[in-house]
Amino acid sequence: MTFQELNLLPQLLRAVDELGYTVPSPIQAQSIPTVLKGGDLIGCAQTGTGKTAAFAIPILQRLNSRVGKSHKPIRALVLTPTRELALQIKESFDQYGKYLRIQNTVIFGGVGQAPQVEALQRGVDVLVATPGRLNDLCSQGHIDLSAIETFVLDEADRMLDMGFIHDVRRVIARLPEKRQTLLFSATMPQEIAELSKQILKDPIRVEVTPQSSTVDAIEQRLYKVDKGNKKLLLQHVLQDERLDSVLVFTNTKHGADRVVKELGRAGVAAMAIHGNKGQTARIRALDSFKSGAIRVLVATDIAARGIDVNELAAVVNYELPNVPETYVHRIGRTGRAGRSGVAISFCNYDELAYLKDIEKLTRKKVPVVEDHPWPMEILEASPKKQREPRAGRVKRADGVPAAPRAQRLPAVPAAPKAAVVPAIKAKRPAAPKPPAAPAEKAAGMPSPDREAVILKVERSVPNPAMLQPAKGSKAAAPIPVPRPEPTMRRISSDPPRVGRLAAFADGRRAGRGRRRPQKG
Ligand code: AMP
Repeated sequence: MTFQELNLLPQLLRAVDELGYTVPSPIQAQSIPTVLKGGDLIGCAQTGTGKTAAFAIPILQRLNSRVGKSHKPIRALVLTPTRELALQIKESFDQYGKYLRIQNTVIFGGVGQAPQVEALQRGVDVLVATPGRLNDLCSQGHIDLSAIETFVLDEADRMLDMGFIHDVRRVIARLPEKRQTLLFSATMPQEIAELSKQILKDPIRVEVTPQSSTVDAIEQRLYKVDKGNKKLLLQHVLQDERLDSVLVFTNTKHGADRVVKELGRAGVAAMAIHGNKGQTARIRALDSFKSGAIRVLVATDIAARGIDVNELAAVVNYELPNVPETYVHRIGRTGRAGRSGVAISFCNYDELAYLKDIEKLTRKKVPVVEDHPWPMEILEASPKKQREPRAGRVKRADGVPAAPRAQRLPAVPAAPKAAVVPAIKAKRPAAPKPPAAPAEKAAGMPSPDREAVILKVERSVPNPAMLQPAKGSKAAAPIPVPRPEPTMRRISSDPPRVGRLAAFADGRRAGRGRRRPQKG
């Protein structure tokens, strides 16, 4: 299939040719004919598949058949969740429509509205918008959507994740009944499937890179590492000079800032992009990254949506996402448009459950890098190294054989019980002592056993807030006090242990908490 075979206008063919596109991507080949005919469409495709051109090119061709001099009213609306994506879509319309007389503009929140209102007043054929600002300007009477011929709902699943679905519905209520609707979504959660039934008429469904499969061009690598050693592992990974442009994902804004600081201390130029950064700071970070002034861009998921950097050498999941589809989104940032890429993931003990979910979704094991300087120590004991139990072996729920009870008990300090009970009476719990590491060392206890001991201690620290006061006690109700955490203590200069203890002090288990979108 060629672009010529898609019956596109010569002006569009010329623009596409100048951009260096030789053949339509699968989503383009499948979508363009339907959109040109005016049909509705559901596109299951993620960023990086060429989906912007899949709707922008045919929309431009349809609009071109009747362009008024005033470019009023607005005839096509593209709704997208983030400012970055909005800017990029507008840029794509400009590029593809370079030889046509179609006017495009973009509006988004977080910046003054006056220039946007002025652009709208000059006349616009295609409006690219984020939902909040669009509703604002509609309410103020600056935008009339009653003549929209084509409506594109882009990244519908992200709209849902980001809590914009209500705003999206308000926008849809402003649109004329008779219109063409195109909905794009990388995943199809129930709510989006229902929305699509309500807003689309006899849509054709186009699916590329199904949500459950990761892009083949991407080489995936997984490093099991303790949480506290991730920063050192990142520095180790970045020693590979071939990784000249690296997008690092963190789950939180704070985490992104911390990674930037840590990299800075290690002499690696990096910047962060996330929801707390103003538009100017985001643009500066993106430009620095694109120009090669900085090698590493650290981003949260939401901020990274739509970052269009084709030359990305690697994506690093500094933290695994708790929503497996997000992993697919993230790694799709590399290996774009046929180029190869590397997706490197760091997985600490707490994240093993997320890894399981990712592998279930992608139906593939993520290849593990066994040989690296910061291997995960917590619960990663090789069964071969363990001593034979004297008494019956204790099996852990997750199948990892724990040390026999007889070996574990002596090392578990009596502290938790003793510390908690008086703590409640005194309304302030004393932190239980951690296992005395040097003593364990002296006892010659092999590493796996020490880990089992540590786990035992963690579990045996009850949350005082959950305990009822003893009968006859004067305390009327348990005082909600924070769960006492063992003090973190470095037990040796052997670096990997730092992380193990950090994970210990962190005190969380690899549970599957309630899944929430990770705010950027
Ligand atoms: P998108 O999925 O729309 O974000 O597009 C991803 C990237 O692929 C963008 O940088 C586009 O410029 C590029 N692209 C889109 N279509 C093609 C094509 N047919 N051939 C080569 N590159 C393309």
